[in-house]
Amino acid sequence: MLKRYLLAPGPTPVPPEALLAMAMPIIHHRSPDFLPVLESAKKGLQWLYQTENDVLIICSTGTGGMVGAVNNFFSPGDKALVVNAGNFGERWTKICAGYNLDVKEIKIDWGYTVKPEEVEKALRDDPSIKGVFVQASETSTGVYHDIRALASIVKKYEDTILVVDAISALVAHDLKMDDWGIDVMIGGSQKGLMLPPGLAFIGVSEKAWAFAGKATSPKFYFNFQKERESLAKNQTSFTSPVSLIIGLNESLKILRAEGLENAFRRHEELANATREAAKALGLEMFTRESPSNAVTALEAPTGMDGQEIYKNLRVKYGITAAGGQGQAKGKIFRIAHLGYAGTFDVITAIAGVEMVLKGMGHPLELGTGVAVAQKLLMV
Ligand SMILES: *Cc1c(COP(=O)(O)O)cnc(C)c1O
Repeated sequence: MLKRYLLAPGPTPVPPEALLAMAMPIIHHRSPDFLPVLESAKKGLQWLYQTENDVLIICSTGTGGMVGAVNNFFSPGDKALVVNAGNFGERWTKICAGYNLDVKEIKIDWGYTVKPEEVEKALRDDPSIKGVFVQASETSTGVYHDIRALASIVKKYEDTILVVDAISALVAHDLKMDDWGIDVMIGGSQKGLMLPPGLAFIGVSEKAWAFAGKATSPKFYFNFQKERESLAKNQTSFTSPVSLIIGLNESLKILRAEGLENAFRRHEELANATREAAKALGLEMFTRESPSNAVTALEAPTGMDGQEIYKNLRVKYGITAAGGQGQAKGKIFRIAHLGYAGTFDVITAIAGVEMVLKGMGHPLELGTGVAVAQKLLMV
């Protein structure tokens, strides 16, 4: 037997409380049994999103939430400004282009973040830009973009909204939707929320709802105005993924008991310990600035293949981390510390990386990184 450890930036491990709750018999989504369940999830998500506005619950993966954000708030021909700093930024471009938006990209070298001044300049040069699209945490490169600064810029433009893919950042980073003025914020179940894949969440500001009233892009399944009406009745427009929503309430219960600030701090501490341990092993961060608290992206040592490191972790030691995506494939490997994650997930990951790298011929003393992580995480 090889015991398995899931340390990927999605899907992430699910706590036993949620697993057990999701094993309950199915209840009917229009029955009085279910309405309080949905109401509780709705309120919990508002708490997590730090918003008084609606947070829609859609049955799809995170990308479905991204698609819905494009077809519900925009019309063909609308100008979109996409921050493309990695694989998921590129996805914004593809979705916007797919719905015939007029896309302009701010292309950022992988490993770096967008400078808020670049967005400010683009909007000043062309205030007819309708939407600014960005990731909070760009999972492919491990950077965190300065969402607070971007929101303060976009807020000044009446005809522009800020659309944030927070799928991997939610729970790992403090994102104050209302305070900062984020207009659309997308989350997914299988990352910080510690659930199986299958739910997307979309927080929507009043400013964005006004956009939805004017948008003419085709829509049917992802119809946010209809979902908003359903949500007001503690329902979803189509059959609710009842088991996942029951699980969501369990995750939210765990997070409420921990407290939001503590959850952010936990992610920060785990991320910091992972980075410091990697440094002690002589590894270079692929992320050049503003590293995300959700995932650590590390360069494979010179002459080594990042995919080989990822594969050895999984095959030899049962640790499922992640390789690189797109242009970073082969050059890097990534370790997540996201969601249902604690001290010994980091220790496990670092110990595994040490054993794999030593096995591949990288000069290191076993235990070097582990000791650093232990020192940092000891209480
Ligand atoms: C995981 C992830 C997504 C969504 O992926 P799905 O497979 O559709 O759930 C989108 N953006 C980011 C930044 C992600 O990390």
